[in-house]
Order: sequence, then structure tokens, then C-alpha cells
Amino acid sequence: MKIGMLPLLVCSGALAITATAQGQGNSQTEYLDAQKNPPMLGIHWARGFEPNPRAAEEAKEAKPARPSRSPNMTYHGGVIMPTSNTQAIFWGTSWGSYSGDKITGMDSWYKGFSNSNYAKTNTEYTGSNGQVGPVSNYGGHTIDTSASTGGGNTSTILSEVCKVVKSPDPTGNGYYAVYTDTPRGNAGYCAWHSFGTCGGIRVQFAYFFKLDGDAGCNPNDTSGQHSQGLAAIANVSGHELSEAMTDPASPGAWYDSQGAENGDKCAWTFGAPLVTFSNGTQWKIQGEWSNAAYTAGTGYANSSGQKGCLSGK
Ligand SMILES: [Zn+2]
Repeated sequence: MKIGMLPLLVCSGALAITATAQGQGNSQTEYLDAQKNPPMLGIHWARGFEPNPRAAEEAKEAKPARPSRSPNMTYHGGVIMPTSNTQAIFWGTSWGSYSGDKITGMDSWYKGFSNSNYAKTNTEYTGSNGQVGPVSNYGGHTIDTSASTGGGNTSTILSEVCKVVKSPDPTGNGYYAVYTDTPRGNAGYCAWHSFGTCGGIRVQFAYFFKLDGDAGCNPNDTSGQHSQGLAAIANVSGHELSEAMTDPASPGAWYDSQGAENGDKCAWTFGAPLVTFSNGTQWKIQGEWSNAAYTAGTGYANSSGQKGCLSGK
């Protein structure tokens, strides 16, 4: 069953997504033990495909009136990523002869993410293993010109990561971003992140469709600094890496009462026309939710009008 056909799935509702996506049972231990189909976390829904978990929740809890809740995220007991050691994987036959700006552009993106004010929007969050830090070490990219598949299947992408990454970061802070040349088609999402193991080592990984000419996943960067396809994967890359750092595993770390992670809560809203990274590169990139900013009233509004988003502009 395709995730994109299920409009009521919550984004980080790892349990619900896993159970439904894989058509298996719904217990947390079941998929943790299996590890064959890791949960699809932090789906970055395309414009117009965003689920409405609130409606489902209200229907479920319609009987007793609930007091209104803070939109802030709460901590769920798990680990965070104190740092991230990133690599990009460009997967698909067309990357072999690719001459555009996406590969060089994403190399710059990952280098510049480290210590950027944008990365620092994640650093207020702590977990059982410490605090999210601003440092990210980019290990470069690999091109795999075999045919890409599997956007709807986390285990396929995990297999690709384990195939390409011969020595995953043994600290478990490896994050492997898989950029395919597969168009989104009818899928309701632009990207997602998940986790698993390669040879017993915990890895974070993320999946990205080819978003060229895809209005549903386009941040509409008009700066002229990047191709549209690069601007689109750069925007969703910020969403996924931020979510991986603040909610990388199961049990989860930071998400709200509806299962939304910090990227989800600010998806498709932008605090500035361009955000400057630490290496001077500039990106039109969505902000990330900050509990502190919401509480202080210093963020910009998300699509629900809640002022908790920061882009580190
Ligand atoms: Zn997300």
C-alpha cells in the first residue's frame, strides 16, 4: 500500500505509518525486531497532500471536551543526534551523465549546514544522550548508477545505503541522504527519513524523489542561484535532516501531540527569501519549529498561524 494514498496518516506517527505501510501488526516491538521495514518517519508531504491528523484525532476524541493544548513538541524519551556525519548518495542511471548543479549544489549545502544559524534552530532539543549540536560533518557524495527504485519502501532504501556506505559511522550518527532520479508521480510526499542498521551499526537515512518541475514540492526559489530541481531537494533536505537530528529513532524524541516533528510543523512556510549557510551559500528553505520561539512569541507563523518557526536567516 502506498503511503501517499492514505491521507490521514500522521507524519511521525511511526507506529501508525509502519503498521499501515507494511500491512503488518501495529506494535512498536514488531518492527524494531524485524528491522526489515523500518518506519517511514518525517514524511515531507507535498503541497496539497498534507494529511489532517487533527480531524482524525478530533473524531477519535469527540466525546469528552479536551482543554486546548500547546502546539509545542514534547519529549518522548528517545535519543537525539548530538552531531551528524552526513553523506549524499545519488542513485539512478541518469546520474552517470548528469551535468547540472544538483550534485555540486548538495555538496555545498551539506558543508554549509554545519554551524549555520539554520542548523542551530535544532539545538534547543535534548535527548537521553545529550543535546542536538550545530556541527555536521559532510563526508561527500557517492554516485550509484544502478536503476533507482523504492521510494515507497524503506527497506529498499536502507539496502541501498548499506550497499553504498561501506563503513557507516560507528557512533550511530551517520545520516545518508539518497537522491534518486525517480519522479514523484502520484506519491503524496516529497521525501522522508527513517533509520535502520547496516551490519549492526545504526544509520539514519532519507529518501528524495527527483523534484524537477514538480509544483507540489517546489519552494519557488526565485533567486536565480540554483536550478529549480536543486532548490527543491535543498529545501526538503533541511526538513529531513532537522527531523532526523531531533527525532531519529524509536522511541522518538521530539514531536507534537499529533505526531508532527519540527520540520513538519513549519513545512512550506519560509522565514526569509533566502537563508545563508555557514559557507555563504544561500537557500530558500523552510524553517523548523522551535518550542522556545513559540513560547517567547519570536518565531514566524506556520501554516496554522502558530508563531514557532525559525529559519536562522
Ligand atoms: Zn517531516
